[in-house]
Amino acid sequence: MQHTLADLKATLDQARMGREMYRLMETLYPICRSLTGNGVRETLAILQRHIPLDVHEIPTGTPVFDWTIPREWNIRDAYIKNANGERVVDFQQCNLHVVQYSVPIHTRMQLADLKPHLHTLPEHPGRIPYRTSYYHENWGFCLSEAQLQSLPDERYEVRIDATLQDGHLTYGEYVLPGESPDEILMSCHICHPSLCNDNLSGIALTTCLAQALTPLSRRYTYRFVFVPATIGPIAWLCLNEPRLSSIKHGLVVSNVGDPGPLTYKKSRRGDAEIDRAVMHVLQHTGTASTLVDFVPYGYDERQYCSPGINLPVGSLSRTPNGGYTEYHTSADNLDFVQPQALADSLYHYVSVLHVLEGNITYVNQSPKGEPQLGKRGLYRTMGGPAGDHQRELALLWVLNLSDGQHSLLDIAERSGLPFETIRTAADNLLPHGLLKSGC
Ligand code: ZN
Repeated sequence: MQHTLADLKATLDQARMGREMYRLMETLYPICRSLTGNGVRETLAILQRHIPLDVHEIPTGTPVFDWTIPREWNIRDAYIKNANGERVVDFQQCNLHVVQYSVPIHTRMQLADLKPHLHTLPEHPGRIPYRTSYYHENWGFCLSEAQLQSLPDERYEVRIDATLQDGHLTYGEYVLPGESPDEILMSCHICHPSLCNDNLSGIALTTCLAQALTPLSRRYTYRFVFVPATIGPIAWLCLNEPRLSSIKHGLVVSNVGDPGPLTYKKSRRGDAEIDRAVMHVLQHTGTASTLVDFVPYGYDERQYCSPGINLPVGSLSRTPNGGYTEYHTSADNLDFVQPQALADSLYHYVSVLHVLEGNITYVNQSPKGEPQLGKRGLYRTMGGPAGDHQRELALLWVLNLSDGQHSLLDIAERSGLPFETIRTAADNLLPHGLLKSGC
């Protein structure tokens, strides 16, 4: 018999999965990704070793809703050399040193003229900031405040060997068909260079989750989308607009590797099934978690939840963007993320999907009086341990509320019992013909 999400949840080897996701992040860490360009292609090619995702290319200039696909940016080298010809700022050492989408430049200038193009973080003098200038033509370097302070006032050679020209925007997509054409969407952004929690953790979790779901039997169809932030989901939504009604639930995956507690940002709707499923899982998880309402700021849920789209897409993360000082700096590195945090995040994603997969509405086939459970071996004849009581309580709740109007998640919420207990009760009743699928 083919395994299901319930089996995956029950047998998930968190230590092994944590190591695998972390190893994938180590592989992807050195690559200079951006909104477009070869770094994204190289990243997607590495992911293809894990899942057979389709790579799509959208030409520069393509209109997508109110936006236009930008020119493609590729960088080979960049540096600032001092008067002795030594590289004092070197892209080869750290790809955060260059402002993303910098136009090419090769010139010499005094420190005072160079300074407007240098970006630091004075409040964290040891860290290199991450800066972009996607939609405004510019160039610049990022370095630590400590390094800036150490630069003598002399003439520097400045070079950014990059190209900004017509090309493509690249994104990846992997679809796992299920019994139903109804879809669950998982989306992560793929446009950050050497940054771990934001955003390699999301790429690693999405990839390993897709890999783990591949051999399972699935009720839903799963669609995994790997896109550059903002313009990526906008382009994807524009190209797929006729199909969007198939998407029944969705999650944006980001910031899932830091040691902080889990955070769920609700969809714009706020009461969608995905919102209730995540909230239910977090409520029964036994650890602290934070719940936040939708705000039109953050990651790509902004696009999926724009008013003309309004998909039921939330975001399950650990510490959200901007909630940690390492965010968008060189300190968001491989030391900041932890395999066990990645594994814990993955377990909660699997738990949420388990709820969605199993959340079916049934109709009690013996609704006049309680059916006699004892004669079917479903009810103990003598008092037993507390676990038995909960199991029996779950049977009674499922029988009582399965009137075609209440799904198993409704019953879990109403009874206060974990979804898993309610799902198991339904699974025990089904072979006795006491339940029939209602819709
Ligand atoms: Zn970011």
